[in-house]
Amino acid sequence: MAAPTYMLVHYGAIALKRGNRPFFLRRLRENIEAAVGPLGVRAVVEKMGRLILRLGPGAASAEIVARLARTFGVVNFAPAIRAPRDLEGLTAAVEGLVAGRRFESFRITARRADPAYPHKSPELERHLGAVVQRLTGARVDLEHPAATVYVEVLPGEALCYMDRVTGPGGLPVGSSGAVTALLSGGIDSPVAAYRMLKRGCRVHFVHFSGQPFHDTRSVEKAQELAGVLATYQGPCRLAVVPFGEIQREVVLGVPAELRVLAYRRLMMRIAGRLAQADGTRALVTGESLGQVASQTLENLAVVESVSPLLVLRPLVGMDKQEIIAEARAIGTYEISIEPDQDCCRLFVPRHPATRATLEDLAAAEKRLDVEALVEQGVSKAQVHKIAVPRLTPRDANDR
Ligand code: ATP
Ligand code: MG
Repeated sequence: MAAPTYMLVHYGAIALKRGNRPFFLRRLRENIEAAVGPLGVRAVVEKMGRLILRLGPGAASAEIVARLARTFGVVNFAPAIRAPRDLEGLTAAVEGLVAGRRFESFRITARRADPAYPHKSPELERHLGAVVQRLTGARVDLEHPAATVYVEVLPGEALCYMDRVTGPGGLPVGSSGAVTALLSGGIDSPVAAYRMLKRGCRVHFVHFSGQPFHDTRSVEKAQELAGVLATYQGPCRLAVVPFGEIQREVVLGVPAELRVLAYRRLMMRIAGRLAQADGTRALVTGESLGQVASQTLENLAVVESVSPLLVLRPLVGMDKQEIIAEARAIGTYEISIEPDQDCCRLFVPRHPATRATLEDLAAAEKRLDVEALVEQGVSKAQVHKIAVPRLTPRDANDR
């Protein structure tokens, strides 16, 4: 098989609405350049509604594939070889592509993106189909081929490929603005963050730890989870708020059954303050309606009412099983299920209130110096820079 020296990337024409198209495309291109530039990609060129990546010698192809499979806005892509557009040139390229491969059936899918090209797609398909049949002995199967040879004829060149990879779809990260996700060590919040990434948001993170009453395990988990999510968006920030002392103050004033909600309201205020300082536009949580006692409609409203920013809950209508399946697919599940100490379980009873009212909370909070606690949380927050971990070829198959 000829070594692919290009990657051909298709993006969603429909997602790129008319007037915004150049903006989305620029974002996508910048994101691709940032993700794969350091891996030996020499140039990224836009042509006829596609992006063509030219790989330098020694480019890390497997890692490039893994990164493109995690770049939102990419609908599909493939390692490709470049060929001259005449029939002899295409024949040689396709011969090189199938050499050494075994498959029982195949089809050629040719696309003539340049209307000025003299050969129509069906003609190319017939011609190249005969070439592949002679070389491999495989039969043609247009409906369920075991292998597909793709040929795309563009102005000045053609690209041929077989191993097409499905991309994650969605919108390029950054095209929708930035948000701040409340990242616990649990299963749900990383999935919520992923959903926002997919809708084109850059996501920064805030984690509340039970320190000094808990160890640092939850912080390490949050860092690892943010690292996995960085593979979908590039480097990002994680603010860690030591919350234990604040929780101890809450315990002094707030009845046991309202404590989880009081913690959540403080989290919203502190995260909201940090988000505003960062210039992000919304808070994101992993809450799902009715999943646990703190996530009834009443309680969600009580918590949300203190947020200075829009609160988004991308998982609100999902079942736990659906969330788990998505967590596995995006690569966060195994980290989330490792044991840690969740700060929300610090000083709380087994059965918190399910239908708290604003008045209940307002009355309880009268006994606290809320502003001082928020100030304390904001000032003690430590910001970690989260880098993109290396991806292995296995990660390429995850998605
Ligand atoms: P998760 O699996 O995301 O922890 P959960 O089902 O355990 O969710 P809760 O513990 O009620 O639900 O938390 C609801 C949401 O509140 C979380 O999804 C997260 O966005 C936020 N949250 C809870 N605890 C923390 C924390 N320690 N740090 C940051 N955010 C938190
Ligand atoms: Mg949790």
